[in-house]
Amino acid sequence: MPELPEVETVCRQLEPEIEGRRIERLEVYDPRWCRPAPPAELEAAVAGRTIEGLGRRGKYLLLSLDDGRTLVMHLRMTGNLVLVEGEDELNHLRARFVLDDGRELWFTDPRRFGEALLLGDGELDAHFAQRLGVEPLSDEFTAERLGEIAAGRRAPLKSFLLDQKGIAGIGNIYADEALFRARLHPLSPAESMKPEHLEALREGIVAALEAGLDGGGASIDDYRDGRGEKGRMQDEFLVHTREGKPCPRCDGTVERIVVSGRSTYFCPSCQVKLRRRPRRRRPARRSP
Ligand SMILES: [Zn+2]
Repeated sequence: MPELPEVETVCRQLEPEIEGRRIERLEVYDPRWCRPAPPAELEAAVAGRTIEGLGRRGKYLLLSLDDGRTLVMHLRMTGNLVLVEGEDELNHLRARFVLDDGRELWFTDPRRFGEALLLGDGELDAHFAQRLGVEPLSDEFTAERLGEIAAGRRAPLKSFLLDQKGIAGIGNIYADEALFRARLHPLSPAESMKPEHLEALREGIVAALEAGLDGGGASIDDYRDGRGEKGRMQDEFLVHTREGKPCPRCDGTVERIVVSGRSTYFCPSCQVKLRRRPRRRRPARRSP
């Protein structure tokens, strides 16, 4: 499933190619892609508009149009946004943008969970306010901020990292990689992190995401970049999907457990399990 590095890779590749291009027309083949909006309504709203940019927030792609509106797209499990020149053999086409230079932007998606939503000028911040937390590659993402997000959270660190309302853009792959880099056990309660753990986790998250970007994203299954090519990050995982393989850091062996229904890979020898902090006991209530 595409996470921050995969979505950011698509953005960086496509934005210089499509910025300033006019959308001749949009063709939606699957009404589920843009529901509840009817495909014809979205097609009419987008046709003739000029693309002002392609950005990212969390795992969302943001296609800015010259009328101030933004088409928000999410790739979900198996979606891809690919720039196509001439004939192509991509399957599972759900929508395509025909650009004024003859090229086309295709949204392909075998499992059809990807989606699109057109937001009006000024609606973007409100839309994401309740859904997405801090951007981990921004200056706002400090150890202090991480501590504020983790305060009072008894959830295991793995689940904590997957919650988009805390930190935006991390999924199953980069949560495992970040925890390994930080030497933290995935079942440690989030609230148990001390300042040194918070700093280690912040560094681990940033390093894991940057490694993903350097590797052009990870193609475990369907992910393709903006040019339709596979990423290389899947060959560079430290622990993710490496069950039974030697730990890259110590003599341990990578194990797999399931946390919140998600496969989780870690080294039990060098990733420390933090203890749950004891709750302060309330003074016993005296009867009057
Ligand atoms: Zn180890």
